[in-house]
Amino acid sequence: MPQLTKSAELFEKAKKFIPGGVNSPVRAFKSVGGTPVYMAKGSGAYLTDVDGNTYLDYVGSWGPFILGSMHPRITAALEYTLKNIGTSFGTPIEMEIEIAELLCKIVPSLEMVRMVNSGTEATMSAVRLARGYTGRDKIIKFEGCYHGHGDSFLIKAGSGALTLGAPDSPGVTKGTAMDTLNATYNDIDSVKLLVNENKGQIAAIIIEPVAGNTGVIPAKPGFLAALRELCDQEGIVLIFDEVMCGFRVALGGAQSLYGVTPDLTTMGKIIGGGLPVGAFGGKREIMERVAPLGDVYQAGTLSGNPLALTAGLETLKILIDENPYPELERKAVILEAGFSDNLKKLGLNYVQNRVGSMSCLFFTETPVVDYTTAVTADTKKHGKYFHSMLDQGIYLAPSQFEAMFISFMHTDEDLEKTIKANYNALVASGK
Ligand SMILES: *Cc1c(COP(=O)(O)O)cnc(C)c1O
Repeated sequence: MPQLTKSAELFEKAKKFIPGGVNSPVRAFKSVGGTPVYMAKGSGAYLTDVDGNTYLDYVGSWGPFILGSMHPRITAALEYTLKNIGTSFGTPIEMEIEIAELLCKIVPSLEMVRMVNSGTEATMSAVRLARGYTGRDKIIKFEGCYHGHGDSFLIKAGSGALTLGAPDSPGVTKGTAMDTLNATYNDIDSVKLLVNENKGQIAAIIIEPVAGNTGVIPAKPGFLAALRELCDQEGIVLIFDEVMCGFRVALGGAQSLYGVTPDLTTMGKIIGGGLPVGAFGGKREIMERVAPLGDVYQAGTLSGNPLALTAGLETLKILIDENPYPELERKAVILEAGFSDNLKKLGLNYVQNRVGSMSCLFFTETPVVDYTTAVTADTKKHGKYFHSMLDQGIYLAPSQFEAMFISFMHTDEDLEKTIKANYNALVASGK
């Protein structure tokens, strides 16, 4: 069992100066209990904490590390930029064109791209753009999908009245809540109902084409295509939020995997290679409305800075050069099959959802297809499972409703170790 003495000390101190001790809520371990682990170093698929314990990392900085931490090519590129270029100019730089051109080549729907500094910025900007373009105010999102912490997205489904959302956080105004409608993931009728009740008022439908923030929930066959058709009929801008699944489930994202083309795409995580980056882009006709070419305002002091773009560009180049996707799929299948065997041996029927190298083991026997079925998971059992895995040196996301990410750096030996730990942790969770 790893000792977390130093982590516990740091957490106590952090709580004095940082709300909840953390700069992003899930890091506080609230849903699994216990002390958050303070990491000191990352290398490949491994993390070392401040007490000297090492862990196999299945969080990957919440998605960016598809190539593991500190990939030598990315590190070298960053060093080069630091020494020879600089960290920021606030002027146009050549690298911006390079990454925009590359993104347009890789992601089917992109004709123009704007770089920003986070996924949240990307989704906020895409929604503003869709509103400006259509001249409409309302948007439809899906219950359980996460699009960052912009006001328009912190809206939960209202109780009773289907069409009225409610703020999901104090500080989000009722006015904002009125403009965001919640549909049910994988249920096209729920979307059609909202569209019909708000004829001519919906600017955009925004969706994670592989939902990754309620555990992992794949879109059912035909669901995304049905959304596309509905948006075409009604003049609604279809936004795929590929901040997590983009460059993860395939180089071209979920849209290339499923063959459905959105009007706008939001990106983040992997295209930052571990530095803060986001982007949004899509159809030329819509993107031409972005300032200064168009009238929809969007800006950023550090947007397109050379350091962040270097990490992103190098990541994309490695993904193109090495095509790690078949290998990631092979590894993900090994892990999934190993977990399945363990479940079978223990007479458990828990659900595993997976698309490529993102997966989730839900502590429920109910097939998970949307938010309602996801929350049937037994989070207490998951908490025990999480801590048993941690004790065995496997670092998972500290929440039932997060994805498990495999990186190119996980070896077959690492996977074997993880499968053994999974057996023990499943036993521990049952007690
Ligand atoms: C992580 C995430 C975001 C938010 O990105 P940040 O960089 O944390 O602001 C938005 N959408 C999806 C699908 C995400 O997974």
